[in-house]
Amino acid sequence: MSTLLLLIMPASVVVIAWWSLEHRYRRPLRQMIARIDTLDGGSNPERLPPSQTMHGSLADRLAQRIDHLCAANRQLQEQAIKDPLTGLGNRRLLEQRLDIALPLSRRWMRAVSALVIDVDHFKEYNDLYGHQAGDECLVEIANVLRDTFRRETDIVVRLGGEEFLVVLLDADEDEAVRLAEAMRGMLQAVGIEHQASSVTDVVTVSIGVAVTHSGEPVSLDDIIATADAGLYECKETGRNRVISRAVTKANIPETKASA
Ligand code: GH3
Ligand code: MG
Ligand code: MG
Repeated sequence: MSTLLLLIMPASVVVIAWWSLEHRYRRPLRQMIARIDTLDGGSNPERLPPSQTMHGSLADRLAQRIDHLCAANRQLQEQAIKDPLTGLGNRRLLEQRLDIALPLSRRWMRAVSALVIDVDHFKEYNDLYGHQAGDECLVEIANVLRDTFRRETDIVVRLGGEEFLVVLLDADEDEAVRLAEAMRGMLQAVGIEHQASSVTDVVTVSIGVAVTHSGEPVSLDDIIATADAGLYECKETGRNRVISRAVTKANIPETKASA
């Protein structure tokens, strides 16, 4: 009897220890691993095989999840500052970059120039060639912009519709107008047919240029309003041209001047 007890006692201790280990640790760990594996609906093709030790498996799965989340986060951040049609930046990117660039330019007494670029008679282009062709035209214009404004500090964005904005840091009026004319000429040389345009038989753009005086405090809104005023004059005087203005209170229309 006592021999039997001697055999049963240690066996019971082992069973109780195993049971307790299983319930307290191994089962929750297995459940956690299964839960991590189903987080992406079980569709992750890189899912790790289940044959590893449990804590190694959990650590690897957590590391893999973190990698996935970081990649997804990077993708979301990029999408938030990009125009999906042209791949250029959008207004949010512009604001982010200018938040840093404008105060620095002012402090270092550097001029900042901005170009508002608007496609001439784009409504007629859409009406004649269709919306899809209009989209392709916008992509082509974005490519010309990328080819023209190549400095690392150039900020090229699509403001919306058929309107683009380029900010050139440390660029005075002569340089900004020279580059604007180069862009306008390059697009005309690409020769996207536009039989409904009253300007010429290819797609053209009008460009309003705003130039700040070195070190003068200006807001993004003032820069855009000044460039817009130049653009308006381009449209009034025949389109397919570049008109520049200094960013001064006098050049900003009353309703658009920032306080
Ligand atoms: P203006 O020379 O005075 O600038 O005339 P416009 O016809 O270019 O200007 P308007 O503002 O009258 O028309 C702009 C057109 O741009 C109208 C709209 O259908 C078109 N448009 C805006 N966004 C997009 C887009 O994302 N894709 C396409 N295909 N067309 C667009
Ligand atoms: Mg427009
Ligand atoms: Mg237009």
